Amino acid sequence: MTQIVDDSKFAVMLTFDMDAESAFLANDPENAHRVGVLSQGQYGPKVGVPRLIELLERKGLPATMFVPGWCAEKYPDAVRAAVSVGWEIAHHGYHHIPPASQTREEEAESILKGIAAIDKVAGKAPIGYRSPSWDFSSNTLDLLTQNGFLYSSNMMDNDVPYLHPVSSSAGPIVELPIQWILDDAPFFMFSRPAVRPISALSNAFEHWSEEFEGLYAERERGKIYVLTMHPFISGRPSRVRLPATSSPKPRKPDDEFTRRGLTGQVQDYPAPAMPALAERVGLGRLGEGKDRPDMGLDFPFGH
Ligand SMILES: [Zn+2]
Repeated sequence: MTQIVDDSKFAVMLTFDMDAESAFLANDPENAHRVGVLSQGQYGPKVGVPRLIELLERKGLPATMFVPGWCAEKYPDAVRAAVSVGWEIAHHGYHHIPPASQTREEEAESILKGIAAIDKVAGKAPIGYRSPSWDFSSNTLDLLTQNGFLYSSNMMDNDVPYLHPVSSSAGPIVELPIQWILDDAPFFMFSRPAVRPISALSNAFEHWSEEFEGLYAERERGKIYVLTMHPFISGRPSRVRLPATSSPKPRKPDDEFTRRGLTGQVQDYPAPAMPALAERVGLGRLGEGKDRPDMGLDFPFGH
């Protein structure tokens, strides 16, 4: 297995899924009548995104924002604000309907409508895809290949990037793996009927930092750290510190931990966003056209 990340660097990717109210509507159409329920998601584009942009901009950190096409059309200002500071806008379905619950035709339509919406609002067609609810279907990969995507960030079967072994003439797609442990929802998401205790920041900080330390220790094997957050969750005034500052206090702080912790890593190590990783592995500048990956590279395949 060839490493695609330089062992002197460690790829950290800050990603935000701007679901707004789309996930609440997809989970239960009856929520369309529940203005209060929907408002929880609306906090993302209205308040969370501007706050996150301000913070990351101050720290000079880029990010990738996955946006359902319907949300891009409803909240163009939030999307354009992210574009204006250099964030990448990537595909996250159209109505945030889990692809595995759709027919192939329905999923194909969602992908096409999502591409058109992002192209129109962000001024550039997306080249990265994260499926709504990470619910990749058996048709998704083929549809991504047909629609010129360059990467997927959906799978939990590895913690190094790899190529999907598709045989379509359009070529393979790079997988940038994710995991629930590096998602803000399991720690902080609270809504009826799926009620759960809301974690303290220190709890999430501890999990994320420990995972960071584990992956960093294996950086020579090409491990990457992909943090998945949601503006309506991590855009809260308290939580916004989590991805980009060292303010949250770990239970057992020490100099090394703090220096290389959730803030340290982005200050000390390059490549906090997906485009940066892709550039490093020779895919060219993402977002500028839809060039296929250089197949001459020896990517790790699968496991
Ligand atoms: Zn989502």
